[in-house]
Amino acid sequence: MGIADELADLPLVDQHCHPIVLDPLDRAGFELLLTEAAGHGPTGTSELDSQVGLAVRRWCAPELGLDRHAQPEEYLTRRAELGPRETGRRLLGACGTSDLLVDTGLQHPGLCAPGELAELAGARVHEVTRVETVVEQVAASGVGAADLGGAVADALAERATRSVGFKTIAAYRIGLELPAAAPTTSDVRRAADRWLADGERTGRHRLDEPTLVAHAVHACLRLGLPLQVHTGYGDPDVTLHRADPSLLTAFLRALPPEAGPVVLLHCYPYHRQAAYLANVFPQVALDVSLAVSHVGPRAAAVLAETLELAPFGSLLYASDGFGLPELHHLGAVLFRRGLARVLDDWLAEDALSADDAARFARMISADNARRIYRLDALT
Ligand SMILES: [Zn+2]
Repeated sequence: MGIADELADLPLVDQHCHPIVLDPLDRAGFELLLTEAAGHGPTGTSELDSQVGLAVRRWCAPELGLDRHAQPEEYLTRRAELGPRETGRRLLGACGTSDLLVDTGLQHPGLCAPGELAELAGARVHEVTRVETVVEQVAASGVGAADLGGAVADALAERATRSVGFKTIAAYRIGLELPAAAPTTSDVRRAADRWLADGERTGRHRLDEPTLVAHAVHACLRLGLPLQVHTGYGDPDVTLHRADPSLLTAFLRALPPEAGPVVLLHCYPYHRQAAYLANVFPQVALDVSLAVSHVGPRAAAVLAETLELAPFGSLLYASDGFGLPELHHLGAVLFRRGLARVLDDWLAEDALSADDAARFARMISADNARRIYRLDALT
């Protein structure tokens, strides 16, 4: 059996994804969820005329009973006939995923509950808690500035009992130059004073205060769970160069001994920087999730560039599927095919044995994530 066949059969652990929308979607709603853009392109253009659009028509259409490369109108008509739930069941079920790690912190109209995602995918679901959301919830509970720091640490400790990891979107809010040391209690108190007063004025607590973000992230490190960090490509809220994972270097150099693994998410176009960090900091792991679904036939190139330096025990599979089950499905299909192409190339060069290729495929597809998130210890 060739490596492509082996990879096609391997169960995957999707270490970063989101729920799907179960409300009916019109074409405009579907196209908007397909892209990271905040709005539609110019009149006369379509979000489906992109690598991800081509991949939907090539790989998702057959799962809905259509020919490969079905026309967009035909695809969307069939999707509407089946309905969001059956479409989800077919596309998620065909991913062959055993476990989904779900970031529950991102809100969007019509998103299903994690339990529904598990049922549709026929997989186990584990929660990843978004750090900034916890701080915002604590602030909204009416806590005073003197107590905010302690209340955040307590709330994160409580969430740790029912999460397999934390995720921070510091890249979106303050950039990735996180301080190496935790802020002092008095610094946290002063920052809380300012930030809570601002929130009262605007009626909204959006965590974009650098000292408070640093406080919450360092509180997570002390809890020892894996900490996922958004890096690289994302929606237009992210200022790309401030999401370069190499900005985390001082923070990674000073990780306390009790910290769990730090998992860099997405990484593209900084996947080589992320691979370098995984090479020199043993606690760093990474995925190239979002990129794999969005670069179509170039998925193998992105995986190959990542594996230039990333140790094979540090790379994880993730779809970063959000809203549309098509994105979970493409993540799985393009990852399996891309990694098979990379390993096949190496086999052709006699760089490794067939046994090694099969072992690395299992590690990257699932075993690395099982080890990092201790999934086998969960009931
Ligand atoms: Zn995500």
